Amino acid sequence: MTNQSAPDRENEFAIFNHLESEVRNYARSFPVVFARARGAQLFARDGTPYLDFLMGCSSLNYGHNPPELKSALADYIAGDGITHGLDLYNEAKESFLREFHKTILRPRQLDYVVQFPGPTGANAVEAALKLARKITGRPNIVAFTNGFHGVSLGALSCTGNRYHRAAAGQLLGGVTRLPYDGYLGSAVDTADYLDRLLSDPSSGVDAPAAVIVETVQGEGGLNVAGTAWLRKVAAIAHRHGALVIVDDIQAGIGRTDAFFSFEEAGLRPDIVTMAKSISGYGLPMALVLIDRRLDKWEPGEHNGTFRGNCHAFVTARAALEHFWRTDSLAASVREKGHLLKSRFDQIARKYGPDRVSAKGRGMMRGIDLKSGNVAGHVIRTAFQNGLILEAAGPKDEVVKCLPPLVIGEDQLGRGLDILEDAIDSVLASTVNTAA
Ligand SMILES: *Cc1c(COP(=O)(O)O)cnc(C)c1O
Repeated sequence: MTNQSAPDRENEFAIFNHLESEVRNYARSFPVVFARARGAQLFARDGTPYLDFLMGCSSLNYGHNPPELKSALADYIAGDGITHGLDLYNEAKESFLREFHKTILRPRQLDYVVQFPGPTGANAVEAALKLARKITGRPNIVAFTNGFHGVSLGALSCTGNRYHRAAAGQLLGGVTRLPYDGYLGSAVDTADYLDRLLSDPSSGVDAPAAVIVETVQGEGGLNVAGTAWLRKVAAIAHRHGALVIVDDIQAGIGRTDAFFSFEEAGLRPDIVTMAKSISGYGLPMALVLIDRRLDKWEPGEHNGTFRGNCHAFVTARAALEHFWRTDSLAASVREKGHLLKSRFDQIARKYGPDRVSAKGRGMMRGIDLKSGNVAGHVIRTAFQNGLILEAAGPKDEVVKCLPPLVIGEDQLGRGLDILEDAIDSVLASTVNTAA
């Protein structure tokens, strides 16, 4: 047992390689052992800092370990606050619900009840689908191309990605897949196709319980649905007796500037799913918001042991209090969103639409490099220079940029410089090999 203090590079990942399943994923892109995190930065064990523009896939919108949330949590723990509460009435949940009502729902005149499902996005989606089917008595759901809704079986049926779907090892049914906004080019309004299918008793599409939609498709490649399309889809759904479920798990909580990503379109979804950044601290927590008139659940019908993560309630309450009582966070997201857009448009213009295009909305943006290979090179190069980001899209061809919403413009600029340099060097070398 000597030399334990100086593990060589090769042994650095020994325990992960030996004991952790091959299913691990993000770790493969970033081969270092991380030790600490603060704000927009992750620190490796040896102290090397990395700018984090992956941010737990938008689970850390307020950055790593935001101080206001950390102190609220530390105080709660120090006072022997309840950690696990099933769904018992408790003060942590009470304070969260009060704050959520006061700061989020009431100002927007949204009359939702709140369901606490199991603490993952997928479980929130499962609950939403079950409830929609129960209310309408219809088994079918309409979901869209390139949609991502999680990887448990019900959610996976709504997810488009073939790789994830194949892992189910069984038929994924009960879903009709339709083209998302822009899927067939800008000349085709795919909402008209939805309307036609649902209006034609001989279309072969069963009347759906719900239409489930993301306003911006995160994993699907940062495809943005237009506000007119969203309104039209919602109106069509309602006209055909179907509910509207907005999956706001990635695009919500300020990522596209407003608290809910559907506010811009003026939607009033029947059901909203939330997870990722709702706790604000990276703690597991999910919500299903249900139009009060549609709360047809019976007690315990969608049960679960971890529906009362009180630590998450404490940080979620602190996040709402600190970041959402005024419009200043949304305003700064709007500003930094413009900055990201102009920077990405500039890169896209430099290379032309066949090689690079800019995608996304708010601070949920990316660069489409038209090839998973190229995007992979860019991600590896950026990582070598201290920036962490990941790919999205059907072929992993879109480099996804999700900086914390609270990032300063200097750090944002530095990260974007690293990204642009990586794109320049990779695209220069691909031209050389092609020539
Ligand atoms: C991440 C995500 C989910 C799944 O959430 P998990 O917590 O990973 O189960 C569902 N929908 C959207 C839009 C997501 O981005």
